[in-house]
Amino acid sequence: TLILGIDTSCDDTGVGVVELAGGRVRVLANRVWSQTVHAQYGGVMPELASREHVERIDAVMADALAEAGVTVDELGAVAATSGPGLVGALLVGLMYGKGVAQALGVPFHATHHLEGHIFAAASEAELAPPFLALVVSGGHTHLFDVPREGEYVLVGATKDDAAGEAFDKIARLSGLGYPGGPAIAEAALTGNADAVPFKEPLQGQKGFDFSFSGLKTAALLAHRAGASAPDLAASFQKAAVHTLVKTTRRAAEATGRDTVVVSGGVAANRALREAFAGTGLRVVFPGRGLNTDNGAMIALAGAAAITAGRAPGTLAEGAEAYAPLAALAPQA
Ligand code: ATP
Ligand code: FE
Repeated sequence: TLILGIDTSCDDTGVGVVELAGGRVRVLANRVWSQTVHAQYGGVMPELASREHVERIDAVMADALAEAGVTVDELGAVAATSGPGLVGALLVGLMYGKGVAQALGVPFHATHHLEGHIFAAASEAELAPPFLALVVSGGHTHLFDVPREGEYVLVGATKDDAAGEAFDKIARLSGLGYPGGPAIAEAALTGNADAVPFKEPLQGQKGFDFSFSGLKTAALLAHRAGASAPDLAASFQKAAVHTLVKTTRRAAEATGRDTVVVSGGVAANRALREAFAGTGLRVVFPGRGLNTDNGAMIALAGAAAITAGRAPGTLAEGAEAYAPLAALAPQA
């Protein structure tokens, strides 16, 4: 089965095609149009995002089909993000996906954005519960236990900023530009990771939560005290990686899970990947181009839903700005 995946949850128009055959998945195409209009405003303007999705989605769809080398009538299922995200932006991809599914008479799967981030890792390894999933993105730092297909138990989350948000804010204050994650990672290569001492967030906690606001404040003070951008980047990255890996490892021990999925934009970070590789856990990351928002990850989540025998959604499902993943009901 060829599955079309669409994500328009924020400021990226993503369309991907995945092939599901014999229980195995293969990404055939992954095209993303990243909107640039927002840069001049210093943040995503929801109304502009919706309009750009409308203007671009046809072209991104055509590119994805061409990359996959398939025609639209060969598609056997459609998955599109229904939430969480910007409602006006979500609606564009959701309605587009429903339209394609309706026109072709194929099943439609309204998909949770975070299930997409998690199943992005299915591009690299067979992914079957139970496992732990750490989603580290621009809006989330959430640690889920996934005991069974479709069941997500939130075991920890950030108490303030998301990890990606912290990378972005610290990059901005040290003049490294946007998006901050890649800029910090690049600057860190020439910095001294021990130059700025950061206190470990939530040290000694019994739970599995995260916090980045303390690191952010410490970074601001260090910047004012004259720390160089590379030193600040390297030191902050080290501290952020340390807290993410340490807490996730403790959660793996507590839950007895030996497989950990690490996904979302921050999972592209090389220092984070190296630190996780040193834990002895089976850690699975999304493949290239699948960490930040994209359509292929939504097709991969759709493939997982189909494989698990989940019933497709109806065309009446709407877009949801706020939609906690842990509230997804497990299917009997
Ligand atoms: P959400 O999924 O929570 O709604 P989002 O979709 O906006 O948020 P993603 O696209 O998954 O987030 O990730 C974007 C974030 O990832 C940005 O904050 C960016 O700085 C960060 N990021 C991207 N590459 C890297 C990297 N190499 N190192 C660290 N952070 C990175
Ligand atoms: Fe995302």
